[in-house]
Amino acid sequence: MDATRKEAPAIGIDLGTTYSCVAVWKHGRVEIIPNEQGNRTTPSTVAFVDEERLIGEGAKNQVAMNPANTIFDAKRLIGRRFSDFKVQADMKLWPFKVTSGSGDKPKIIVSYKGQKKKFSAEEISSMILEKMKETAEAYLGKVVKEAVVTVPAYFNDSQRQATKDAGTIAGLNVLSIINEPTAAALAYGLRKDDITEKVTVLVFDLGGGTFDVSILVISKEGAFDVKAVGGDTHLGGEDFDNSMVDHCVREFKRKWKKDLRKNPKALGRLRVACENAKRVLSSTTHTSIELDYLHDGIDFSMKFTRAKFEELNMDSFSKCIQIVENCLNDANIEKSSVAEIVLVGGSTRIPKVQQMLQELFDRKGLCKSVNPDEAVAYGAAVMAAKLSGVDDKSLQDLLLSEVTPLSLGIETTGKEMNVLIPRNTTIPTKASKLFYTNADNQYSINIKVYQGERAKSTDNYLLGNFKISGIPRARKGVPQINETLEIDADGILTVTAEILSTGKKEKLVITNKKGSLSKEEIEKMVKDGEKYKTEDQEYKKRMDAHNELDDCLYHMRNKIKEYKVTKLSLQSGSLKIMEKAIADTTKWLEKNHVAPVQKLQSKKVSLQSVCRPLI
Ligand code: AMP
Repeated sequence: MDATRKEAPAIGIDLGTTYSCVAVWKHGRVEIIPNEQGNRTTPSTVAFVDEERLIGEGAKNQVAMNPANTIFDAKRLIGRRFSDFKVQADMKLWPFKVTSGSGDKPKIIVSYKGQKKKFSAEEISSMILEKMKETAEAYLGKVVKEAVVTVPAYFNDSQRQATKDAGTIAGLNVLSIINEPTAAALAYGLRKDDITEKVTVLVFDLGGGTFDVSILVISKEGAFDVKAVGGDTHLGGEDFDNSMVDHCVREFKRKWKKDLRKNPKALGRLRVACENAKRVLSSTTHTSIELDYLHDGIDFSMKFTRAKFEELNMDSFSKCIQIVENCLNDANIEKSSVAEIVLVGGSTRIPKVQQMLQELFDRKGLCKSVNPDEAVAYGAAVMAAKLSGVDDKSLQDLLLSEVTPLSLGIETTGKEMNVLIPRNTTIPTKASKLFYTNADNQYSINIKVYQGERAKSTDNYLLGNFKISGIPRARKGVPQINETLEIDADGILTVTAEILSTGKKEKLVITNKKGSLSKEEIEKMVKDGEKYKTEDQEYKKRMDAHNELDDCLYHMRNKIKEYKVTKLSLQSGSLKIMEKAIADTTKWLEKNHVAPVQKLQSKKVSLQSVCRPLI
């Protein structure tokens, strides 16, 4: 990147499980930025090939050939522990390997340039973010330094922090991490100029890997008030693909008594075919999956109906509806007061999902004015413009208020989760509670702060712990310790404990660092990322030089043929010399297809000097 190039405005990135999208605020409105292939969304896929790293379409297109080194779903891993049962379940379906790294962090194993390499989910996500950054830079002709990145509303602190780390590794200053449904609501609200007073909007976001619901009240002044969020970080289009894959694997076993699961290449091909069939079934009621030589020379052919697809996924669809109902309850909002249902995410194109949602809302129409694939990036770009200080009237009054997606509490005796801030409380917020000692003459108390909805503290996510000591000697249950949880507007949590009789205070600011990367790790990954980028660029240069020599040889071979046919005056001696030079260079190129650029160029120069009459 040319350092003298001007800096671009901050961009908005929707970092999706399966597809990502980038947008920017330009000339008073949002523009969705197409990638080099002209597509407005880019697969969130990274592949490692012998000599090359591919990101986006290039990676997705070769997945069937190279399943073990083609990484998708990094978002399902980010900020999670390797031992998390969801990670364990997902691993069974992935054709690539995941292992446990230090601190129970999952590491993805690939083979790249003949070596085994391990990548964290943050690194893979950073590669996708970098691709989106480059897409924006190519479009804007300027260097991009700042971005707003979106995450599912249901992501916990660790997942949010890990996403932010991925941005840092990609060389981006992440201005804010905002919730996907809120971003979608921004996209909806900003396009709508007929909001009279207040309108309650439900954003139903069913993407590739995650499901999110948000209920917001948008006021005509531009305030976006989130009332409740809900969802499942493990529910989406890929689950529907998986259920189709499972079905095909079962059918294959029943018919041929062979296990497709033992053949990762076949599984990769089957997955691609199932996803395509799923998309087709959103517009027709029948399709078929045909794959020649799928396994052990057997051709696979299967009819798939929309009814079968719905039957296989009914549990997931019902779960979505149940989550919507819970969210309405949490927000204390009647179905009838929801004025608009905004659909976001590719999987909302599934007719059954739309039908069930319409039935829940007594056949109310679904808002389709916002493109479900682009709404999130659109909203992220609006927020990016606002936060980077773009002077525009429509951004001036924009005000976002978020809620805590998960309950926050303190562990008490018997590992009980004592909730101080229930989920869906508007932030900033503060809550206090009195706790007592549980032993005579207890000198100190260990305070453990958890996030989650389970009754047993250890089933939730541990955010941090600290000790307060110096409690005056007294009988059990007498000393009082006032514990306070406070979340500021940026979502930073501060925990304070005060011994009331002495006024002694201890404080802990949860920096979200547990389970996420240290500063040193991030710096190392930034360096690695730059190294991979340079290697990619060098590889591209070598391939360009290779192709130039190849083209030159091709051109000369044709010319020789022409000479032979037309029998034009070329001395047979020099013809032979030229033929030999062409044959030698062709042979050399076959053996040295990734030779250094200079070597390839000098080969071309010497070939041209021998074969001057052919140029
Ligand atoms: P997103 O994460 O929002 O980009 O959504 C991507 C998911 O939507 C993937 O699982 C796609 O397979 C799925 N998807 C895209 N188009 C359709 C469609 N027409 N019918 C069903 N699913 C779709």
